[in-house]
Amino acid sequence: HQCSRVYTSAAATQLRPRSISNVHKPLHGPRLSLSITWPGGARPGNSSVHWLLPLAPLQAYPKYEAFLSRLVSALDPLLDAAPVDAAAWSQGSLLTRLRALRGLQPLLRAGLALGKQLPQYYQVLTAPITRILDLWFESEPLKATLATDAVIGAMASPHTPGSGYVLLHHVMGELEGRKGAWGYVAGGMGGVSQAIASAAAAHGAELFTEKPVARVLLGPRGEAQGVVLQDGTEVKSKLVLSNASAHVTFLQLVPQEQLPEGFLQHLAQFDTCSPVTKINVAVDRLPSFLAAPNAGDGRPLPHHQCSIHLNCEDTHLLHRAFQEASRGEPSTRPMIELCIPSALDPTLAPPGCHVVSLFTQYTPYALAGGRPWDEREQNAYADRVFDWVEAYAPGFKASVVGRDILTPPALEKIFGLPGGPSLPGICPPP
Ligand SMILES: Cc1cc2nc3c(=O)[nH]c(=O)nc-3n(C[C@H](O)[C@H](O)[C@H](O)COP(=O)(O)OP(=O)(O)OC[C@H]3O[C@@H](n4cnc5c(N)ncnc54)[C@H](O)[C@@H]3O)c2cc1C
Repeated sequence: HQCSRVYTSAAATQLRPRSISNVHKPLHGPRLSLSITWPGGARPGNSSVHWLLPLAPLQAYPKYEAFLSRLVSALDPLLDAAPVDAAAWSQGSLLTRLRALRGLQPLLRAGLALGKQLPQYYQVLTAPITRILDLWFESEPLKATLATDAVIGAMASPHTPGSGYVLLHHVMGELEGRKGAWGYVAGGMGGVSQAIASAAAAHGAELFTEKPVARVLLGPRGEAQGVVLQDGTEVKSKLVLSNASAHVTFLQLVPQEQLPEGFLQHLAQFDTCSPVTKINVAVDRLPSFLAAPNAGDGRPLPHHQCSIHLNCEDTHLLHRAFQEASRGEPSTRPMIELCIPSALDPTLAPPGCHVVSLFTQYTPYALAGGRPWDEREQNAYADRVFDWVEAYAPGFKASVVGRDILTPPALEKIFGLPGGPSLPGICPPP
């Protein structure tokens, strides 16, 4: 539909600053911040971005943010460092072992930066997020809303140990020097790929699309020598870089006999389960929420520019939604994160129209009883999500002019993501 130009992703934060400076793509938009709304519940208080929550429960929030910021600052350099090669410590020559130990330096520096508070921070990474949030807040809607960042994209409940790390993952990004900021990419998220493509082209790269790789060509010593495309064309090269998922790269494209058995076993156990169904929606008017109705002129209000969390008034709701999906059933009251990128970027939709991105969970990859994720199941789930949005923003359903439903199997099929994950490998233990 002409109203929509949407992608799987909605907002950017986790591209490393170095990558962004390499492609010189301006990102724009204010910080996406916490915004909560519930049917008929709260009323506007003041003009802060948190204004849909009563102010009292937010008093501890700045301290909580400062606490997390310290952990983020300590761990952030690890994202640009080579991963620690634990296996190499016990194998190879003395030189190899010493080199491997050098790889520990960034980790040790992170530990030193956290100082005496290391045990509390260790708890953040390993405990269920509910335990951490209970230490800071009493307000259930606030705790549940913050907990959404600890489960989003992960088949995990806020009560799952390790969900704290998922939260950290979502506050770890930065944009244009602003730590923890999320922003919309001008022209839609596809702008990131376009910017990378034009930066590569400017350096002399030739780009080919719609050319699936069938396998990586290996030489007699297992060294990569190029790729064979699905149409049979051979492309020789000294180096092969793959950003297809690890499963696709190593379990489908590289001949198995060339890879160490332990590595393959490890990879086969790497969990890519995803609870996410992304629904991209084109609407012919801006949603008007009961908690903060639109002004008469139909122009976006501040909360339209935030991420809007629905069905998270209580942590138990999230847990129940997770439990249903664990039994192979899509949640009856799914967790919904709603963004309206066109509220900030008018190039995404014609005047008056908007694109609404619904990041929803929990939907199992495999439905109970071996039911297929056919059109009937997809539509039934999307209708349920729309019923919930309608409860918060009456008139939403009537405003919909098109929708695109991406269940985990659809994400797998369309985007080559085994399991359909948005955060591959970030699945706390069950
Ligand atoms: C539903 C969903 C929502 C998300 N929301 C956000 C968000 O709001 N913000 C955010 O920052 N991130 C979000 N993400 C995560 C983000 O999309 C990924 O982190 C990002 O796309 C990873 O980029 P990549 O280039 O590493 O891999 P990908 O984007 O997965 O690119 C890999 C490419 O390899 C191609 N490929 C696979 N197999 C082959 C083959 N055999 N031959 C040739 N090509 C092949 C695939 O088609 C794909 O184009 C979301 C992800 C999902 C699934």
